[in-house]
Amino acid sequence: MAEAGSFAERVKQQADIVRVIGEYVRLKKTGQNFSGLCPFHQEKTPSFAVHPTRQIYHCFGCGVGGDVFKFVMELEKCTFPESVRTVAEKCGIPIPRPRERSPEERQENQQRAGLIEMHREAAAFFSRLLHESTEGKVASAYLSDRGLDREAMRRFGLGLSPSSGDALLRHLKSKYPEKLIDASGLVSRDQGGRLYDRFRRRIMFPISNESGKVIAFGGRAMGDDMPKYMNSPETPVYSKSTVLYHLDRAKEALRQSDFAVLVEGYMDAIAVARAGISNVVASCGTSLAEPQVKLLSRFTRRIIVNYDPDIAGQAATERSLALLLEKEFDVRVLALPGHADPDRFLKEQGVEAYKKVLSQAPPYLDYLIGRARHMDRSTATGKVAALNFLMPYVQRLPNRLLRSEWATRIASELRVDEPVLREALRRAATERRSEVKPKAELLAPAVKPAERQLIHMLVEATGFREKLAQEILSGALHRGLETEQIFEVAIAAVLAGGAVDPAEIAVSLSEKDRRLLFETLFDTELERTWEEAESCLEFLRNRQIGQELSELEVKIQAQQPPDQLRGLLERQNELRRSLSRKQEPKKSVAGM
Ligand SMILES: [Zn+2]
Repeated sequence: MAEAGSFAERVKQQADIVRVIGEYVRLKKTGQNFSGLCPFHQEKTPSFAVHPTRQIYHCFGCGVGGDVFKFVMELEKCTFPESVRTVAEKCGIPIPRPRERSPEERQENQQRAGLIEMHREAAAFFSRLLHESTEGKVASAYLSDRGLDREAMRRFGLGLSPSSGDALLRHLKSKYPEKLIDASGLVSRDQGGRLYDRFRRRIMFPISNESGKVIAFGGRAMGDDMPKYMNSPETPVYSKSTVLYHLDRAKEALRQSDFAVLVEGYMDAIAVARAGISNVVASCGTSLAEPQVKLLSRFTRRIIVNYDPDIAGQAATERSLALLLEKEFDVRVLALPGHADPDRFLKEQGVEAYKKVLSQAPPYLDYLIGRARHMDRSTATGKVAALNFLMPYVQRLPNRLLRSEWATRIASELRVDEPVLREALRRAATERRSEVKPKAELLAPAVKPAERQLIHMLVEATGFREKLAQEILSGALHRGLETEQIFEVAIAAVLAGGAVDPAEIAVSLSEKDRRLLFETLFDTELERTWEEAESCLEFLRNRQIGQELSELEVKIQAQQPPDQLRGLLERQNELRRSLSRKQEPKKSVAGM
């Protein structure tokens, strides 16, 4: 959201949404608006519209909509600040250097910048050692034994950490203060408090953040040194759970293919990427963490999980599945035959074989049913155990119909008694009832044309929208309407004075309300005269009176004591008189 006076707000004021979106979508002028084929869903006839004066877009097909920043965020899968930058660049608006708010913040930023530079330096140091030293010759030979040639070593920035124990430390000391080196995670302290190199005689894999800056390393032992894998610790620039290995190089391919291959380690990711499947990322840990899932969801929601098929890999797969399903990913699972990891499989079977099994990877429930089939189901307890293994996943399905379909399949495949299964499913359904989203059709709003008309005028009728907002507010005419929330927010924006920005209003609305608001703004049939406003207000007043009358009738029917009944009847007459005084509704609001 663009804060008043912020750079984002300035960009928004100067940017032309039609020009920016026009770079992605072929737009045609249709009346006052522009339209084109929606870039967010497949379609043959245009239902995607851009409103040049309101500076918003809206798709009447799939329902997406927002301002210019939202459009770039959704299409480029980037964050808000990145989107502001992109729009500014496209419109030739100079980007100010980020302003630091406090001395602490400045210090933190300096530290982060220093650490990132130090990591670049360390990566170059490790790489030199691998390619130019005697020690490096042994390591290169070790790597080429594993199928990695010089070209691959350079492409993925591999290096070697020296065996001496303090060579990197000495190198860094000539350039950086000790305090910064200490914070980098590249060194450790011994019991005497002396610093030494954290990584010794290991193949070094640089780990980069999303924008390609090295922020950590993974070190793989050569030979039998333990541990086999050693990573940088958490530092001010590196947090394991927020980074996906190879994402910086996979972005483009992820966008193009709209799916990701998820593997466990760097060697797997490198092997898969070298096979020409660049849309691969590695979790570099035993299973995915929630921030990693969120990060990935900015690029795609379709994923093939290809972890090692060993016990640890299976457990990691299942933990990751749970998280991915919760975030509504479309998940497939590839368990390679012969218990191979992707690296080994590619070496033994080749690229084509890998691509083939990848394309045949089953949906996650097939994978899970396969796992459950291997459990002992000869006893009732065994069957319940298999069911209990499956249910949490079925439960995570957002769609009830799908859940029921899967239940039937599970019943037949596992030969589980139907009643046992139904009971488990029923339990699962109650447990997740609170999360189930009502279907859009069920919410089909009882929105009357008068409401649409008034919402439209609250935003567009610059001549009298304040008077209109006052009228609605003083009579509480919007209370109890399907559109109450939209009125609430729009009235507040109007009465706050200044420009009324629909994208800003939309920030505090539900998706359903946002759609409705945008639809009224794109509706060029709607009128903007005070006369029309009056007749819509009249409709709302009548509705209010009608409601009070029916409440009164209930009370009168309930046979109140005589003293109260008289009051009620008087009020009833008063209301009826005021209804009959009102003129016939106008043509445009008739028949509602
Ligand atoms: Zn669409």
